[in-house]
Amino acid sequence: MQSLHNLSLEELMQFLSKEGERPFRAKQIFHWIYECKVDHWEKMTDLSKNLRFRLKENFLISSISQRNIQESKDEETTKFLWELSDGKLVESVLICSEKRRTVCVSSQVGCPARCAFCASGQEGLMRNLTAVEIFEQVYQIDKFLHLKGERVSHVVFMGMGEPFENYDNVLKAVYLLHDTLRLNLSQRRITVSTVGVVEGIRRFTNENLQVNLVLSLHAPNQHLRKKIIPYARKYSLEDIIEAMVLFAKKSKRNITYEYTLIKGINDLPQHAEELGSLLKEQPCTVNLIPYNPVPGLRLQRPEKEMIENFRHILSSCGIVTTWRYTKGKDIAAACGQLALQERKHVDFVAS
Ligand code: SAH
Repeated sequence: MQSLHNLSLEELMQFLSKEGERPFRAKQIFHWIYECKVDHWEKMTDLSKNLRFRLKENFLISSISQRNIQESKDEETTKFLWELSDGKLVESVLICSEKRRTVCVSSQVGCPARCAFCASGQEGLMRNLTAVEIFEQVYQIDKFLHLKGERVSHVVFMGMGEPFENYDNVLKAVYLLHDTLRLNLSQRRITVSTVGVVEGIRRFTNENLQVNLVLSLHAPNQHLRKKIIPYARKYSLEDIIEAMVLFAKKSKRNITYEYTLIKGINDLPQHAEELGSLLKEQPCTVNLIPYNPVPGLRLQRPEKEMIENFRHILSSCGIVTTWRYTKGKDIAAACGQLALQERKHVDFVAS
């Protein structure tokens, strides 16, 4: 059945006309769904019983359902596990800091990148999410916040999956999030994170959007990068950086590189120095993220002094760094962790 989120206001009006209803009811329905966050046709009390029945017969409002929710002790991070219509699981994280309400969304079930430190790619790619499945993660969390009088302010594509391996659906989801009749999120508050799919970066550059783009770098050279990110074999680091620089030029934006620091692997002073010379001519920021332990992986988070030293070396090369303290550690908030836990539990129960 078709999702209502896929329908434009005009298309809904056309449906209503065919049903012998007045077209203005389309705005009423959008108001119920996107302003009042009502996702049951029965609750739209100012529509006739017959119309509610016809709408229910023709359109879905929810195509994902909440399977689990976990809040961190500090209440800053809430993790949502969703079940899709085919029973597959994906997750989103809500991060609350001061006035920001950021949702980290998944774009695929599993991930083809298979980064050594990440839970999402452990079992490879299962399937792409549809645009509506991506959009609905934000819609449902907006509904959750609505009860507290709050709303989603930012969206980052940093959950499970590689957004540019699901380019068309991600772009469509961006337009749904931005739609003034729907969540009305400013493009500047949406960020897409990529592992470095060169044709994706180039295509995205030509869309001329206001959406931010960040690159998951994690290593200062191709040799080490391939070890940390098996997918990195597909593209040379040179081509990826060239594409990012072109994006920055065209969009007049600073570049953000994400660098997950893993003890003894990519956190040594020589890595910082190499990174410094790789990026020194660029208008960029390096976001340092200490590795967040994933059960079953034998990797470690660096000591604080190592991170400080790494930062110091980059700063002396003139590179701006931010250090993201990983929020929600007690609820396994890094990309893909809850879904992995849940699947392992399901497998355990089933066997
Ligand atoms: N495929 C995209 C989007 C996934 S988000 C990409 O690679 O950019 C990926 C980000 O999640 C990485 O940049 C990394 O910063 C973060 N991440 C995932 N697992 C992590 C872990 N165990 N510890 C720290 N950061 C992690």
